[in-house]
Amino acid sequence: MTVTVLGSGTSTGVPIVACACKVCTSAEPENKRLRASILLHGTGPVLIDTGPDLRQQMLRAQVQSLAAVLYTHFHYDHLAGLDDLKPFTFDRAGELTCYANIQTHENIVSKYPYLRDKNPYTTIPRLNVEMLPGNEEDGYEELDIAGLRIQPIRLTHIPKSGVLSTGFVVNRSFGYLTDFKEIHKDDEKHLYNLKALYLGSPLDKLHVSHISHGEGLELIQKFKPEQGYIGHLSHQYLHSELVEKWRGIALPAYDGLVLRF
Ligand SMILES: [Zn+2]
Ligand SMILES: [Zn+2]
Ligand SMILES: [Zn+2]
Repeated sequence: MTVTVLGSGTSTGVPIVACACKVCTSAEPENKRLRASILLHGTGPVLIDTGPDLRQQMLRAQVQSLAAVLYTHFHYDHLAGLDDLKPFTFDRAGELTCYANIQTHENIVSKYPYLRDKNPYTTIPRLNVEMLPGNEEDGYEELDIAGLRIQPIRLTHIPKSGVLSTGFVVNRSFGYLTDFKEIHKDDEKHLYNLKALYLGSPLDKLHVSHISHGEGLELIQKFKPEQGYIGHLSHQYLHSELVEKWRGIALPAYDGLVLRF
């Protein structure tokens, strides 16, 4: 399988609109970070999240079809491009299935009521939005999509307001945990000794809804993947500086990074 990083940036994307800092004005492609999304590829492509940069990401990675979509959570930077899934449903035999946790499912249903229009017009994306199998209390069951075994991981994104997030471990070798502050204790067993562990952390300081870079590095040292990555990066950091700073522990993710397992 392959994993392509479609977006390694935090919610604003980098460059940030109207920011003249050295990262936002850098010409290096590694410092240009679209909103968080990755593409898994088994026997077909599986997309994680549909942020506002989805259209550009699909064109850039030349994605021709999708087997399914998985959602981590309902925040704008992970969901707002949902309608741009439309082209993948034009010539499709059935609906495109999207899997989400209960909060994200409810959010999609309320934000996009036209998806359930009883007399659907031709220009709506034909999506089948399903709940992930299992639940937050007892845990989630492994999905089998496009030849990939995908284990959802229970995460808390914003503990104070109860916002949940979902991580994914693919083929017991690649872990993708983007927006989170806490990992459910019972799901930690899926995270040890992976080939690669990708964590989301925008900033090098404590934050109410994300782990800090320091906490990310500690988790990488705890779970001991062969290679650790940190993404969902903000505009405070040049890629080259993070490479130096995290040497021997983790690498900063960047748009277009491809991992092969
Ligand atoms: Zn995010
Ligand atoms: Zn900036
Ligand atoms: Zn978020």
